[in-house]
Amino acid sequence: MQGKIGSLSFVTKELEQNNLNAKKKFGQNFLTDQNILTSIVDVACATKEDAIIEIGPGLGALTEHLCNVAGYVLAYEIDKDLIPLLEKNLSRFNNFEIVNEDILKVDINKEIDEKLLGYKNIYVVSNLPYYITTPIILSLLSQTNKIKRYVMMMQLEVADRICGKPSTKDYNALSLAVGYRALATKAFKVPRTVFVPAPNVDSAVIKLDVYNEPPVKAIDEDVFFKLIRECFTQRRKTLMNNLSLFYDKKLINEMLSSLNINPGIRAEALILEDFVKMSDYIAQNK
Ligand code: SAM
Repeated sequence: MQGKIGSLSFVTKELEQNNLNAKKKFGQNFLTDQNILTSIVDVACATKEDAIIEIGPGLGALTEHLCNVAGYVLAYEIDKDLIPLLEKNLSRFNNFEIVNEDILKVDINKEIDEKLLGYKNIYVVSNLPYYITTPIILSLLSQTNKIKRYVMMMQLEVADRICGKPSTKDYNALSLAVGYRALATKAFKVPRTVFVPAPNVDSAVIKLDVYNEPPVKAIDEDVFFKLIRECFTQRRKTLMNNLSLFYDKKLINEMLSSLNINPGIRAEALILEDFVKMSDYIAQNK
């Protein structure tokens, strides 16, 4: 008799008996700590009225807990070798679907409309593949506002950057890109030792509570997302120095003076509202 799905003995035996190795190219680091699995699920606060989208179910360790608390679990796993194991490991549940797809290629609104109709809330809960953490988050946040909450494990450094506040070393374009659409909070840290194989870095679980409307809305969101990257091109440089790499100096001078922003300031000292004001100015004067 093997241990629980998310136990060290289960993960090692399951891989060994099926002649599988954890695949680095898919960011496979399997969680082996029941307390952490339970804590992740607790942060989501899902009920049987809610549906959960899981990215990368792996061997089903987190999926099992999610099937217990939520009404339905829709899980996307890129690795076809894991699909039969997942179906076997979760066979006692009837409230899930495993889709063998790359999450970055999924039309998430279409999937939600077709498969998750009637659920009160839709949440994402995932131990993310670390090699594509940022593309997954930014892609889902920009595609849909039907997902109300994200609870995700990721590399500690990325978690800190997403949750970074103005005038701190962690604050950057990613904090703003996520902060435009959601309130980000760090839930807890996770040591590298609870994964098989152990990654080279520690991890953290974060929660994103998505706003119905951005707290401040940009006239042209493409201009806003481009501008925040430009402002942080070289974080030690002033706003003026960074922006003059991309825009006419006269336009920047006029913009900063009309918005009362000191050209000698660094991007890290500005708040979301300042970036939206600058992007609106550029959108209306380009
Ligand atoms: N949920 C499992 C756990 O906690 O033990 C596995 C987490 S592991 C960090 C990441 C999982 O994401 C792997 O199962 C991997 O195969 C899957 N994955 C990687 N890239 C993916 C993608 N683009 N779309 C869907 N799943 C992906």
